Amino acid sequence: MNAMTTALTPKPSALDLDPDGLTELVTTIGQPRYRAQQVMRWLYRGVRSFDEMTDLPKPLRTALAERIAASSLKPSRSSRSSDGVTTKVLFHLGDGALVESVHMRHAGARNKVRTTICVSSQAGCAYGCAFCATGQGGYGRNLTSGEILEQILFFLREEEGQTDALPLPANSRPVTNIVFMGMGEPFANYDNVMQSIRALNAPWGLGLGARHITVSTVGLVPQIHQFTAEPLQIGLAISLHAPNDELRDSIMPVNRKYSLAELMPACREYVAATGRRITFEYVLLAGVNDADEQALELARLLRGLLCHVNLIPMNPTASSLFVRPSGERMRTFAEVLDLAGIPVTLRDTQGGDIQAACGQLRTSAQRLVPD
Ligand code: SAH
Ligand code: SF4
Repeated sequence: MNAMTTALTPKPSALDLDPDGLTELVTTIGQPRYRAQQVMRWLYRGVRSFDEMTDLPKPLRTALAERIAASSLKPSRSSRSSDGVTTKVLFHLGDGALVESVHMRHAGARNKVRTTICVSSQAGCAYGCAFCATGQGGYGRNLTSGEILEQILFFLREEEGQTDALPLPANSRPVTNIVFMGMGEPFANYDNVMQSIRALNAPWGLGLGARHITVSTVGLVPQIHQFTAEPLQIGLAISLHAPNDELRDSIMPVNRKYSLAELMPACREYVAATGRRITFEYVLLAGVNDADEQALELARLLRGLLCHVNLIPMNPTASSLFVRPSGERMRTFAEVLDLAGIPVTLRDTQGGDIQAACGQLRTSAQRLVPD
């Protein structure tokens, strides 16, 4: 490798390593295995440089810093809603790619504070849904597991008001929900997303319950099958947005590959195998998918399935052809579903005065949280 290449290639991220990988590295450097556990603990407490790992010998810190990066995301812009509830951060990845993540605080059951972190799984997205700013911007690349984890660790450290102290241990933190509803299609980056989820869940990682993690997919059928067979009980949300193939084809190109005739049986199989309720997301687009007949058609499609429909008011995007329906239209649509026996939520979008550039982050993520 010449000097030029070395300068241009970002170092591998420490968070991409699992305990075995880190132990191997530490022993190669000639240090005892238990040092790997110390490093792991610091990393999952949100520390962003080896120098902060004060109980490690200095030569080990230097040797690690030469080989791997303790952090590879640079937060570049952050905006907070005026009510202080939502914070959105734009991160530069090591190679300059950009992703966004959102942190929200909200009251859960018995008014306990809950936080939800909405993470990106890819820079850009290849699926080109007509109403989505990310999709219209095209595809960049997959994020590594470490880059996904770092978005979360950033908020745990910075946003929970503990910039000076380290984040609290998992059992004394407010309940944190993670939703893969930022930029990108998580199931198109399946292995890295699953690797990050295992680290979120593992005792050596964040120790977060799998039921506090939800993955949202545009409907990639082979990966839905694969996900159904995963040992962890992770939540699944499907971006449906239309009750029939003709309409779905016209706003979501993926439907031409995996039509409802394939998608719906995969969803039914997930519910049957896991016993978990599935969430269907449905972005309301004025004059496109918001009529009473379409609500009835949706109810017929979902009849008998253990599920829940999240109605998402369309977030305007810069080049958007679509418009959010009136509040009254959206409420009526929800009522029609409700009367047809389909559990449904429609949240208002008040308080969100920051621009959600990828069009979806806040409103859609907010109502996926278990109590
Ligand atoms: N790629 C995944 C996850 C990211 S998008 C997926 O499509 O499911 C998260 C949610 O926001 C999806 O349901 C998506 O369809 C929705 N969304 C996209 N653009 C939106 C917009 N402009 N307004 C409201 N929701 C939007
Ligand atoms: Fe990609 Fe999801 Fe946006 Fe569709 S809605 S373009 S799958 S990020």
